[in-house]
Amino acid sequence: MPDHDPTRTDRAAAFMRKAAAEKAAHDEAVDFVERYNAALASGHGTPWSPTIRTAIMAGVPWLDVHCPGCGTSRAIDIRKIDRHPLATVGSLVLGLRCSMCPGSAPMPVIRGLHAFPPAARYTSTL
Ligand SMILES: [Zn+2]
Repeated sequence: MPDHDPTRTDRAAAFMRKAAAEKAAHDEAVDFVERYNAALASGHGTPWSPTIRTAIMAGVPWLDVHCPGCGTSRAIDIRKIDRHPLATVGSLVLGLRCSMCPGSAPMPVIRGLHAFPPAARYTSTL
């Protein structure tokens, strides 16, 4: 334990280290989500998905979900979902069912994560 308060230089260095670590974490989250969105866009799907915390850290909290049964889609704000932040966004589809499809609705399909809800092309709810 230091015998004195940190100097102004020490405080500035600590601030800069913290800011650099936060930027690195943000950049890593953005890269991870970009790879996830690219994998989904390729049409081959992906066996992995980012966590809710990663998506929020990357600034893309809107989950684009599509119903293959009726062809409708919806953007879901994952910041408002009551799930553990380390749960993956892929696991969220297990709790979703389309309200437009009668009876046994098919499993929704995730189309990607976005910074803003692409509301213009959405006509229904899940
Ligand atoms: Zn549907």
